[in-house]
Amino acid sequence: MRIRTLGAAACIGYPGHTTSFLIDENTLLDCGTGVGTLSLEQLLNIHHVLLSHSHLDHCSYLPLLADVHARHNGSGLTVYSEPETLQILHRHLFNDELWPNYCQQPSVEHPWVRMQAVEVGDTFPINDGLATVLPASHSLPAIGWLLEGNWRAMAFSGTTGTCPAFWHWMNSVPSLTDIVCEVTYSNQLSHHARVQDRMTPAQLQPFLANLPPNLHLWISHLNPLCSQAVMTQLAEGLPANVDLWPLTADTVIEL
Ligand SMILES: [Zn+2]
Repeated sequence: MRIRTLGAAACIGYPGHTTSFLIDENTLLDCGTGVGTLSLEQLLNIHHVLLSHSHLDHCSYLPLLADVHARHNGSGLTVYSEPETLQILHRHLFNDELWPNYCQQPSVEHPWVRMQAVEVGDTFPINDGLATVLPASHSLPAIGWLLEGNWRAMAFSGTTGTCPAFWHWMNSVPSLTDIVCEVTYSNQLSHHARVQDRMTPAQLQPFLANLPPNLHLWISHLNPLCSQAVMTQLAEGLPANVDLWPLTADTVIEL
């Protein structure tokens, strides 16, 4: 399994695109503005979208991707997320007002966008590996994802505040080598993190103590106004077994 970062930024207007990853050739993990960097051929090759939650920085290109499949007679998409998130997409996005209801076009039986509800703990095959739904805690329904290849595994926290259940899960994955974790605000801006249910370095650090050896910790969704402070604060007191990196577009993680 080859995971290429298309976008890992918190917002547009700075270099980079918002959250999205291309898994092999046919699957997206989240569908933020990074998807706009793909060619028509690459877009038509995408058949599956693993979605963490419904905020636009994570799903803004989903309606446009569906439109590409509809216009070019593609095979359509299956979107995997928890039921509440799928209902939000139905109600507010694919509603024939904001965007065509591609969940019922060209027919109810065979629509361009197929919704597949999943719950925390569900595991299913994805290419030559497995995808598992992980818990997350955000200001609206949200999940993370665990991707397991033949030898290595990567966990994606999605957007989350402090979620002990997510980190407890990390301790039970022997092949875990990479965690992509969103940390948006520095310790000085913890009031913003609290309001938006996000994490600061001080909130993340207690969870890093018992992770497996030789772990790569990739930090995404950094607020550009305090990204240096976040990385510096995370590096202080980091366990020796954890290798810390800011996640940037085109970073490739092979599992
Ligand atoms: Zn969000």
